[in-house]
Amino acid sequence: MLEQQKTTEAIEQTIASLPKAYEPQAVEAKWYRFWEENGYFKPQPNAKGPTFVISMPPPNVTGALHLGHAITATTEDILIRYHRMKGDDTLWVPGEDHAGIATQTVVERQLAKEGTDRHKLGREKFLERVWQWVYQYKHRIQDQHRRLGASCDWSRERFTLDEGLSKAVREVFVRLYEEGLIYRGERIINWCPQCMSALSDLEVNHVDTPGTLTYVRYPLKPIEGETETKYISVATTRPETILGDTAVAVNPKDPRYEDIVGRMAILPVMKREIPIVADDAVDASFGTGAVKVTPAHDPTDFEIGMRHNLPRVQVIGFDGKMTDEAGPYAGQDRFEARKNLVAELQQLGNISKIEDYMVPLGRCQRSDTIVEPLISKQWFVKMTPLATPALGAVKYGQMKIVPERFNKVYMDWLENIHDWCISRQLWWGHRIPVWYCATCGEMTVSREDVIACAHCGSAAIHQDEDVLDTWFSSWLWPFSTLGWPDVTPDLLRYYPTSVLETGYDIIFFWVARMVMSGIHFLGVVPFETIYLHGLVRDAKGEKMSKSKNNVIDPLEVMDQYGTDALRFTLATSSTPGNDSKLVPERIIGNRNFANKIWNASRFVLMATAEISGGVPAIASLKPHTLADRWILDKLARLTKNVTRLIDDFQLGEAGRQSNEFFWSDYCDWYLEIAKVQMQGDESVRQTTAGILRSVLDQTLRLLHPFMPFVTEEVWHYLYELTEPEQSKWPASALIIASWPQSNEKALNAEAEQQFSLLQEVITRIRDARNQMNVEPSRHIPVIMAVGHEIAIFEAQAPLIEFLARTEKPQLHLQLAQKPEQAMSLLAGPIEIYLPLAGMLDIGKELERLDKELAAAQQEQTRLQGKFSNENFVARAKPEVVEKERERLTAQEERVSKLIARRAELQG
Ligand SMILES: [Zn+2]
Repeated sequence: MLEQQKTTEAIEQTIASLPKAYEPQAVEAKWYRFWEENGYFKPQPNAKGPTFVISMPPPNVTGALHLGHAITATTEDILIRYHRMKGDDTLWVPGEDHAGIATQTVVERQLAKEGTDRHKLGREKFLERVWQWVYQYKHRIQDQHRRLGASCDWSRERFTLDEGLSKAVREVFVRLYEEGLIYRGERIINWCPQCMSALSDLEVNHVDTPGTLTYVRYPLKPIEGETETKYISVATTRPETILGDTAVAVNPKDPRYEDIVGRMAILPVMKREIPIVADDAVDASFGTGAVKVTPAHDPTDFEIGMRHNLPRVQVIGFDGKMTDEAGPYAGQDRFEARKNLVAELQQLGNISKIEDYMVPLGRCQRSDTIVEPLISKQWFVKMTPLATPALGAVKYGQMKIVPERFNKVYMDWLENIHDWCISRQLWWGHRIPVWYCATCGEMTVSREDVIACAHCGSAAIHQDEDVLDTWFSSWLWPFSTLGWPDVTPDLLRYYPTSVLETGYDIIFFWVARMVMSGIHFLGVVPFETIYLHGLVRDAKGEKMSKSKNNVIDPLEVMDQYGTDALRFTLATSSTPGNDSKLVPERIIGNRNFANKIWNASRFVLMATAEISGGVPAIASLKPHTLADRWILDKLARLTKNVTRLIDDFQLGEAGRQSNEFFWSDYCDWYLEIAKVQMQGDESVRQTTAGILRSVLDQTLRLLHPFMPFVTEEVWHYLYELTEPEQSKWPASALIIASWPQSNEKALNAEAEQQFSLLQEVITRIRDARNQMNVEPSRHIPVIMAVGHEIAIFEAQAPLIEFLARTEKPQLHLQLAQKPEQAMSLLAGPIEIYLPLAGMLDIGKELERLDKELAAAQQEQTRLQGKFSNENFVARAKPEVVEKERERLTAQEERVSKLIARRAELQG
């Protein structure tokens, strides 16, 4: 006994020495290191469950953590931790993307500041600079993921430019080339004169911008016998391209132009003779129905040009300046030339009108520069043969998209897919593995670097200068990270992956392309489920942007409120596929939730300090009281719901329900009731302590995936202070403790129903006390008619006394006469009477009411006086009279209420 007392005292001292509030800064780094050093993030090939694998979307190596990363990492970590606790063999592969354009731009900017550029430096030296930069910054994004608590396997971390992934890229390029799915061709591409690179369609933002539509008339070359000059009018939003026109086209069915198809027009300024051709691509209802054709500067015109064998005259260069082909405008900036040419055409009388027009302007996603469509020799992937099986994967249910409405978005894109321009005029990236021979003119496409032409053996070869689009490496991510093209044990065990989780904004860039490559190269869809989350917006629902100054920095939030508060807020603010609002008050609320967990746990440990025996298994508990049965029933239901919700990807709802249970059922009710039960006999105390600890343990497990740090910290205290022998713990850490099983035997509908009736009674009495301003310390009398529930209420009377601060309740089956001078309340079928004399000092209250009544009556008399004055009614403005009448009515109502209340009190 003495021994026991000593331990109890020691435990109490330890608990008393714990900080009064949870201190995230003090524990987060400690636990992350503990988990990582113990190898908990690594897969467990001997696990009893199936594999569960996620490839982390690789953030840009240049990046700093923003809310998009935070929601991605939080969501994936919740799924991974849940499956790890369930006993699955979980693997979460982290990594970074080399981010071609973004990274090169940053380093080039740095060079510009130093007064140099990549061309002066040369390719090799430039790449050295970029690698230096990458080594310097790569750790930043890794460390930030660690701060978020991401439990990924860092020993398997990959980088899209590392050796293995570069090998995968080579393999894919060469294979697709050999299969005829990669080709080099002249096409109109989106060119960014700022980045000096081609862009894929997806890298161009189309923004409707106010501009003008200029109508220009071209004189027709006179034919024999024609005395008056005829004209044909065309409309354009880019007049500077006129200089490169090589035809005018009309629709073959357009009767207006029937007679002139086949004639020649004379291009103003350039004086070039250009044919008038008929082509189905021309929309007769647009502008004048005749369009200028500039094959070198417009994708549709390029096609028309191919069909009619038109020359391509490139008047705008890759630098955005007019070329020598632009005659007098050569050397001018493209927009300068536009202005000057319009002025000249106006002078020449060639412009018939200029009208306002919304132009769907393409801008470079990276630099915001207006994109120029230019002809260029580029490498392309033929997409239709790859897209067709990817369409089938969703159509035939091999893969599920959550939420389902994105099926249509995915399919629409695949059905209308264009070939993918994969070459980029950059140096940072995977260099295209193609060598051109100066001797025989052939190309050598090879997995290995070559020094001689494969066709003629000549050494006069040079490698393609361009690199591949960054997505050309990330579309291989789910299998290249597992070792492909080598057949590694990881590839065999962990491919296909389970869930691909990302923002819906990259469904085309990345998700659809990964499906294509997975099916094409491995014959299997790369993941079972695609889970798409939305954008995180500000509290008002607006997109966060630096210019609006409404950006929330996740690192600052973690510094201030702790990682768990940020994670819980992100998880519970979102529903699949929808944008969510990040409300700062909710972050504070969830910081308070972490504190609540901390404080409730301190209370539990303190209140049960004298009871030995650790944390009993939940299924071994034998409930004594209604409250015991009720909390165990609630926990069993919660466990079932949370498990089902996470399996359904309803993570937000799972978190909300756990929070609600902990805060309300466990803390507000059971913890309070336990204060009464801990006064009971030995066996009740034992059981209560067991339930307090065991329910806490189970709830910590349910909350762990959402709030890993505070739950791990508290869980350790819970076991350390109740079970000194660590060998008796269910696990060495919460992160690998087993996921709770719903205890079906604890389900108890009767307890649920009875307890909620008791809760209602207590809540009604509490509300009435508040309403009447009864001092908190005052115990008030209560009379209840409880009908056939009498046995329950007799048993629960001490709880009513304690929780509603009443005297011992006077319980009756029914009351023949309603108690006088009492407030009456109803809770379900239960009648509750609170004698007013017990709640307030009636004499004082009557005095106060009399004063209030006198004042009200005085005001009433004053208003009545106004209305008895005929002058007032006749002369005052009708709205004034109306207003005064309303005041009088209100005053009359008040007087009668006060009189009734007075009568009630006097009885
Ligand atoms: Zn050759």
